[in-house]
Amino acid sequence: MSSKAMLKFRGTLAFRLTIWYGAVFSIVSVAAFLFFYLMITSGMKQRIDRDLLKQLAEFRTIYNLEGLETLERTAMFQSLAAGEKDFFFRLLYPSGVAFSSSNMSYWKEIGVDRKLVGTLVDDSNHQFEEVSISSSKKKVRVLYAAMGKNIIIQLGRSMADYIKIIETFQKLFFSTMTFLILVAACIGWFMARRALSGVEAVTKTAKQISETDLGKRVPLTIGADEIDRLASTFNSMLDRIEKLVNRIREMGDNIAHDLKSPVTRIRGVAELSLTGETSMDDYRKMAGDTIESCDQLLDMINTMLMISRTEAGVDKLILEPVDMARVVLAACELFMPIAEDKPIALSCNAGENQVISGDVRLIQRMTANLLDNALKYTKPQGKVDISVYNDKEYIYLSVKDTGIGISPENTQRIFDRFFRCDQSRSFGGTGLGLSLSKAIAKAHKGKINVQSKLGQGSTFVVSIPRYVK
Ligand code: ADP
Repeated sequence: MSSKAMLKFRGTLAFRLTIWYGAVFSIVSVAAFLFFYLMITSGMKQRIDRDLLKQLAEFRTIYNLEGLETLERTAMFQSLAAGEKDFFFRLLYPSGVAFSSSNMSYWKEIGVDRKLVGTLVDDSNHQFEEVSISSSKKKVRVLYAAMGKNIIIQLGRSMADYIKIIETFQKLFFSTMTFLILVAACIGWFMARRALSGVEAVTKTAKQISETDLGKRVPLTIGADEIDRLASTFNSMLDRIEKLVNRIREMGDNIAHDLKSPVTRIRGVAELSLTGETSMDDYRKMAGDTIESCDQLLDMINTMLMISRTEAGVDKLILEPVDMARVVLAACELFMPIAEDKPIALSCNAGENQVISGDVRLIQRMTANLLDNALKYTKPQGKVDISVYNDKEYIYLSVKDTGIGISPENTQRIFDRFFRCDQSRSFGGTGLGLSLSKAIAKAHKGKINVQSKLGQGSTFVVSIPRYVK
């Protein structure tokens, strides 16, 4: 593996999880081993101490019943029976000077701890000591105790068995630990790879996705684990992105289409002016057409800018108390001639004192957009009702018509920029009015909703919080 690949491998989550798993496993195993080690060693020490104390009790009884000579003989015999390399005794004066002992040739390095001897007053106490013999790497457990008032006994027992067990334990520890850590690393690696295989599937799918192919999805397993949840969240995010990209694409197509018409008209007029004999009146008409097309373009561009600025909150709203009833009455007055021309029965029901805190310029624009649409998409002899009402919190502006209506699948899309329903294409328009109205309602902390039935009519309702002094 090259050093770059090694670095990459070391940075992977699977590698880090394996290290963590291995480390935690090793720490727990070492702690468990340590616990058993302490239990076994302390148990063994206690056993040696118990043996020494039992021996001491025996010697005391013999000394008390049969005197010093019998004690010396019995102790000697015991040392021979247990093995001179395993057990020794010394009899001392209270000053610490020895006057009798077993064969001490194996125990030369073991002296008398006079300080300990000094602490022994009578039969009631004893002292233990652990002595290491450096030449033979042996350890000895030594017991000091008083026999009556004038004699101290020093008993020693080799800890060879104890050392042997510890050495075996240590060997076992190192070999078992090496094996366990290797097994733990393998298991950890296997588990991490298994757990992360789902993440890899997500990564693979993400790599396969391009702008033109947003249809790929991460395959889900039947489980309901975190990785599956991640995959299904990722898939639903892809669904949303796909929808958004499609919408943007559609919007781009619509923009291109809507901008194309006035530009083509301008070009056509310009071309016409270059060919053939044209009278002054025709030139005037052509100039008028060009201005009209330019105005249409400018209007679209300005409305697009206005939507973006209102949505982004770039222009600060000039807020003041705005009586919606007044705005609606003024709009009705303005649109009445258009309604009468069609003819459409326009009725206005606006009550009194329906005050919101708003930017009057924007509120007028929104009201005009809704009323304009209602009149535009309603056939002659139809009806348009505009009304204002309120509840405790909101002022409602409702625009109801008996027009062409909107199909259920389009009721939310009509608020997208440049979206126009198929059945309304012959009516003219830019597809921007409702996006702007929605942005204005939102800028006033309000909402705009629509209820519609295809072929029967629509009702648009804007709700904006009431003005509070
Ligand atoms: P437009 O300039 O096309 O009217 P809008 O943003 O105002 O743009 O409206 C978007 C689309 O919503 C319209 O093209 C039309 O299809 C539909 N629409 C809006 N208002 C009505 C209505 N009152 N009745 C039926 N359809 C409507």
